[in-house]
This record gives sequence, C-alpha cells and structure tokens, in this order.
Amino acid sequence: MVTPLGIEPSQCFVAGAWVAPRAGETLDLINPSDGSTLCAIARGQAGDIDAAVEAAQSALNGDWGKATAAERGRVLARIGALVLENTDELARLEAMDVGKPLTQARADVLALARYMEFYAGAADKLHGQTIPYLDGYTVYTLREPHGVTGHIIPWNYPMQIIGRSVGAALAVGNACVLKPAEEACLTALAFAELARRAGLPAGALNVVPGLGAEAGAALSAHPGVNHMSFTGSVGVGKLIQASAAENIVPVTLELGGKSPQVVFDDADLEAALPFLVNAGIQNAGQTCSASSRILVQRGLYDQVIEAMAARYSQLRAGPALDDLEVGPLVSMRQKAIVESFLAKGADLLIAGQGRVNDGAPEGGAYVRPTLFADVPPDHTLAQDEIFGPVQVIMPFDDEDEAVAIANGTEFGLVASCWTRDGARQMRMAKRLRAGQVFLNNYGAGGGVELPFGGTGLSGHGREKGFEALYGFSVLKTVAALHG
Ligand code: ADP
Repeated sequence: MVTPLGIEPSQCFVAGAWVAPRAGETLDLINPSDGSTLCAIARGQAGDIDAAVEAAQSALNGDWGKATAAERGRVLARIGALVLENTDELARLEAMDVGKPLTQARADVLALARYMEFYAGAADKLHGQTIPYLDGYTVYTLREPHGVTGHIIPWNYPMQIIGRSVGAALAVGNACVLKPAEEACLTALAFAELARRAGLPAGALNVVPGLGAEAGAALSAHPGVNHMSFTGSVGVGKLIQASAAENIVPVTLELGGKSPQVVFDDADLEAALPFLVNAGIQNAGQTCSASSRILVQRGLYDQVIEAMAARYSQLRAGPALDDLEVGPLVSMRQKAIVESFLAKGADLLIAGQGRVNDGAPEGGAYVRPTLFADVPPDHTLAQDEIFGPVQVIMPFDDEDEAVAIANGTEFGLVASCWTRDGARQMRMAKRLRAGQVFLNNYGAGGGVELPFGGTGLSGHGREKGFEALYGFSVLKTVAALHG
C-alpha cells in the first residue's frame, strides 16, 4: 500500500477535501515494474464529476474568483516550492505508478515545479490592450478566465502535463477539474494535497480519478465545463472534441506524433547522436513528442545506423527503481500494443536492439528497445504512433525528399533538423510541418517556456510558455463612449 504524502489514494479531492467516491467503487493501481497491485484508487463517476464541477463554480464565486493576479501567482509559487521540497517522494510515487526510471521521474518533478514557478511569475503579466477608436471613445480589452476548465491527463507524463495545463489555467484564474489516467493517479493526488497545503482555496483544483469512459466522458460532456484540455490518443481526442462541440466550448488537444529528426550529410554527428537515440527511448518511447523517425542523408546513413545500433546494444530495460535507461511500459496492455507493432516489422531489418535486464521481474511490462533500418516511409512502423522504445531509420537523397518524408505522416508535433548550413536551417524550419522545430538539437518533453502543440492529427491549441495563458483566457472588449 502506498500513501502519497499521507493521502488515502482511494479518495477524490473535491472542494478542498478528501472524499470517498459516491458509488464507493475502486480500481486497482498496478505497478508495471512487477505486475503487483500498488493500491486501490477511486473509480469516480458522473456524480463525483458533478460535485467537482459544482465545487469549481463555487470557488469562482468565492475566494478564488476574488483573488488578484498577484495572489494567484503567490499561491502557485508556494505550490512550486512544496513540489521541490517533496521531490524524492513524488519521483518515487511516479516511478512505482507508471514505471518511469527514477532519474526521469525526478526530471518530471522538477518540470512540475518549473511550471508552477513560470506561471507564478506570469500570472500578473497577462495584460489587455487599449485600442484607438472613434472620437470620444476609450476602448480596451480584458483577459478573463473561461471559468471551469476540465483537464483530462494521460499516464505518460502526469506531472509535466498537470503542470502545463493546470498551472496556466490557475494563473489566469480558472477553477480546474482534473481527471488523471486510471493507470497513473498518485502524483495527481499528491499534487492536490500540496496545493491544499500551499493555501489554494477550496474548489480551485479538484481531482477525480476514474475510468476514461466514465469519469472522463462525464467531465468532457459536462455542461458546466467552459474549456477542455486533453492530452492522449487520437481516438479519444475525437470524442473530446465532439463533446466540446455539443457544448460549444473551446478545446485544446495534444494527441501525439510521429516526430522526425532529419540528419544532413554536413551534420555534427557527435552532437546529434545522443539526441537521436534519447529522443526515441526516453520514457520507454511513451512520449507524445518522441522522435520515432530518423531520416538520414545517404552520405551518413551507414555511419548513423552503426552508431545508433552500438548505443542500442547498451540499453537495458528494467524496474523503475533500478533506474536503468529504459523502464517497463505503463501496462501489459501497452506492452501488447508495442509487441504487435514489433511483429509487423518482422520483414524489416533490425539494426540494433537493447535487452531486458537480467533479473527483471517476470510480471513486468518490459519490451526490448528496437531500432529498424531501411524502413519504407509508408510502412506502419514509419506512419503510426507506437508509444514504445522503437525507432525507424530511413535514407534520403536531398532536401526535397527529406521534407516529403518528414511531412509525410498525418501528425505534426515536433521535428528537428541537423545541419551546419545556416540557410538550410532556415528553410527547413519553415518547411517542416510541426508545432515545434528544433535546429541542431531535439527538445522532447523539456521547455516549460516554449509554446507547444501540433497540427493535423497531433491536435490543436498551444500549451506551455506564455502562449498557454491566451488559450486559458477569454478576451473581452470594452468600448466606453464618454464624449
Ligand atoms: P491511452 O490509450 O494512451 O491510454 P487515452 O487517450 O485512452 O490514451 O487516455 C488518455 C486519458 O483520456 C486518460 O485519462 C483516460 O482515462 C481518458 N479517456 C479515455 N477514454 C475517454 C473517454 N471516452 N472520454 C474522456 N476521457 C477518456
């Protein structure tokens, strides 16, 4: 049994208090490193979501709605400080809950703290404008909160995604209802407890764990929710957008990708190599912005394969607390999905493979990190998001072909280009279809300050950085005729 920061994990956090789910039902939370049951979590349902939305509305009509921007910033800063103070415990919880190796889990804690710091500082810097208009008028704009914001969080980076969406939403003065993934609830609950201790007014943040089809669907369909923010699969993203259409509310969708790194013959290969591999295997490849496609110009192609294969041969997958390069996947279900992709690559060349570490428990959700070479760009391994430690390498001849392959999927989240040619860097930055383009680096996961989001099946709307504050606010124009 784990009790995050003294919290009973089978409860919901609603209106500033820990409450049992109304139907009294729970779900088992599984440790993917060994398949054991960690604890029971609440199986929240529509009634719990109703209570959470009501609590959020009350907060907006009460202390939280009256808080000044500076006060909102101050409470976010206190939450960030408490997150930092509890780095070890939060990292351990995340490692056990989702199988993230401890070093990577610690990085997520620091990112969560950074989001709180960033949005603490940003809260009182979101300004309106004054607009010159007709004689006798003064016109200005106000940036106001949407009201109640719904946040449906996936299991791959719970802390980072809570940080970027809840942090920005609270900075603007929204009140949040958060539905963590059923596979990953502990740090969401711990975060709520830290927010309570930091003095966040009751109802400003509510957390209702439960199944997607129950608590998640109830939240996204709730008429009292004024904005929905979702990170997860394309299929569920479509459902969220359909519900938002029904209620005519704005929605931010971040739905993953098939992000390429494009390596030209003149690239600094030594600098590129760690990024080429790490961006694919970080978090066992369960990263929306994972770089799962490596495009290499023919002059360097064999060399890159050889160097990446050498790195792969050193990769070990093992229990999160052993803190190896790769942890287990989040669940046996995810392992089965990744293995079915590996089976689809049976006719392809495996250029490099890591191993499951000796002694890794039988019941853990481990797969071997695998690098495929010579993959045709239209192959399912080069087109579909696998969400596992699997990368493909493909050759190209010239810039036009590189762009055609790089842009040749339905996704468009992140892309990177490795070249020493400055003019080519500028051209590629414009030509690559992605919400973020990295030149001579790759930034999966990081970059609290950097606006992030996709095009195509990767979704729409921008999170992170200052840009997120625009998404989490509504613009009101005030026109005063005073003569
Ligand atoms: P994955 O397949 O990688 O688990 P999902 O998109 O299914 O990703 O899950 C991401 C989040 O969406 C989780 O919090 C999950 O509970 C939630 N979810 C799943 N199905 C629905 C649904 N029908 N409506 C709302 N939320 C859902």
